[in-house]
Amino acid sequence: MNGLTTTLRALLPGAALIAVHAWAQPSLDDFRSPDAPCHDRSRGPQTAVVDTHVHFRPFGGPAVSFEDMVAFLDRSGVRFANVYGIGQMLPVGSPCTYYLDCPGVPVLPTLKNDFANAANFVSDRPENVHLTMSMTFPDLARPETVLARMDLLDREFPGVFRWMGEVNLVKQALFPNAHRAVPLERIAAWAPFMKRLRERNIPFAVHSDLGHDGQPMQYLPWIEEVLRLYPDNPIVWMHLGLSRELTRIDPGVHLGVLRRLLDHYPALMVDISWRVIHDNVFSRPELRAAYLPFIEEYSTRILPGSDFLASADKNFDVYTEELRVTSDILADLSDEAFRNIALGENYFRLLGLDYQAPEICPAGLPAE
Ligand SMILES: [Zn+2]
Repeated sequence: MNGLTTTLRALLPGAALIAVHAWAQPSLDDFRSPDAPCHDRSRGPQTAVVDTHVHFRPFGGPAVSFEDMVAFLDRSGVRFANVYGIGQMLPVGSPCTYYLDCPGVPVLPTLKNDFANAANFVSDRPENVHLTMSMTFPDLARPETVLARMDLLDREFPGVFRWMGEVNLVKQALFPNAHRAVPLERIAAWAPFMKRLRERNIPFAVHSDLGHDGQPMQYLPWIEEVLRLYPDNPIVWMHLGLSRELTRIDPGVHLGVLRRLLDHYPALMVDISWRVIHDNVFSRPELRAAYLPFIEEYSTRILPGSDFLASADKNFDVYTEELRVTSDILADLSDEAFRNIALGENYFRLLGLDYQAPEICPAGLPAE
């Protein structure tokens, strides 16, 4: 437990012995200690302690250093993170750091970021933040290249990579940069690497737009084809299928699709990362009221994330702001749902990590 924490023992009616504490950020060790203090929702931050979707590498140009990025997480109270590279990169030497600024410049998947992240990680493993390295390199339109590259990463960094993603199946925002939807019939050719992922219980985190505001379901067959062919792979569907191109979908229609897929495919999870979802959907009262019951009901199937992109022009304030807004809706959840999503229980279960989310302090307890 960290030195700032004052742990008091308060004897409750019924003689239950509960630890209450002046609020201080829990340490990583608190997540595996049976004596960890409970989480006081009225005093502690409402932001997630897991960031399952954070890009340590930008599309191009200089990155926030690995060390600084870990410090951003640590100072924000994030104790667990998936370290994503980026699923597509601008050419070396390009002045662009964001693909939308550079239409016409091709962006392509690459191994570079995965190597950079893993090399940084093994040379200086952080003490107070648990990092899961992710393979971001796969070009899903060229599945024949994936296994050999997984083997290469395994040789160079044995046992280091425990996640795959964010990989792109269809991302309309990249269409001006020569990305196309992966041809549907090619998804069957993923079988060899999906088998390897299954054997190693490595989640597959995929960006697959549901559609766009003109045609909200245009790309539904893409994610459905993945689920149909690989129902036993742990799959995380990013951003609930939403994007800047799809913000005005009827919530009843959208939630109908999500419920149907989650009910039919027990290994499927969704992530609610990216401030675009907050800014366009969750922050609007009538939409928030529509999505909250869904998040509550499916709280064991949802992962949180900032979708922060670590280009060097961003600082700690940008990270904390993105963490704050992407966590905003979590504050309205029940204790159980908050524990599942924000305090990491879903994440630990999915990866089989030897950690557990703290219990939530009973409401109304005096906490000094
Ligand atoms: Zn992302």
